[in-house]
Amino acid sequence: MAYVVRAIPLNKNFRAFAVECKDIVETVRKLQALSPIASAALGRALAGVALLSADLKTGKILLQINGGGPLGEILAEGNWKGELRGTVKNPHVYLEIKSKKLPVGEAVGKKGFISVVRDLGLKEVYQSSSKLVSGEIAEDLAYFLTVSEQIPSAVSLGVLVGTDGSILAAGGFLIQKLPEAKEEEIAELEKILKNFPSITTLLSQGKTPEDILRMLFSEIKILERRELKYKCNCSQERVESMLVALGEKELEDFVKKKEPVEVICHFCRKKYVVPLNKVKAILEKLRNKS
Ligand SMILES: [Zn+2]
Repeated sequence: MAYVVRAIPLNKNFRAFAVECKDIVETVRKLQALSPIASAALGRALAGVALLSADLKTGKILLQINGGGPLGEILAEGNWKGELRGTVKNPHVYLEIKSKKLPVGEAVGKKGFISVVRDLGLKEVYQSSSKLVSGEIAEDLAYFLTVSEQIPSAVSLGVLVGTDGSILAAGGFLIQKLPEAKEEEIAELEKILKNFPSITTLLSQGKTPEDILRMLFSEIKILERRELKYKCNCSQERVESMLVALGEKELEDFVKKKEPVEVICHFCRKKYVVPLNKVKAILEKLRNKS
């Protein structure tokens, strides 16, 4: 079962989060027929958003990555209930693998932005973004948090894809410095991080998120353990309200063709059909408004 933990190290001034989400990445891989490189990139984004949303009490967080690479835009969303969903524009990209590591940075690209949208169910939605530094996602997220949100952060994210394309391991951790952290505490952590094994190595060895945080800080206090699941919140209602946004012109075309509107959700691949009479009714409403 995928889950994220939120912890504080004892006698040290950091916040720590770690996630294990293999099952979720495997679910999305099957749903969207992701190529290995697409699984790796979207899986990292999902692990990242799981870490970011681990302390939400309400609302949701959307992580958007657009680096101009062959994968196109990556979206990953997490909410306060531990529900995650995600999608990648071009899920069937295959790149030549020159080393053991999948070339995620190349597939994502680095000419673009990473942005985080916080929708806490209030009137306003908060969005901030920063430039991509490598397209590897973990580095980009660390840079975003440190520069754009001004919380010095270390991020590790990883997805291990098997030779048959299935997901063998996925997860990550996030460490954030509290303002009270002393120089020597930071130096000590940096030293540990420098020679720290990769997250996929640790998860493949059967290490849990709690184990990984204990390797970083000898003693930790777990504040919360939150189960995660892949869940999409699309519905017939949402699809119909999306049609309103298409506008009169597009809807007129559907009516002329005498075709019901078919919409496939990008996140869960569920198919929705809006019957012709419903399309006509929506169009009628739009016309009366204008
Ligand atoms: Zn959906």
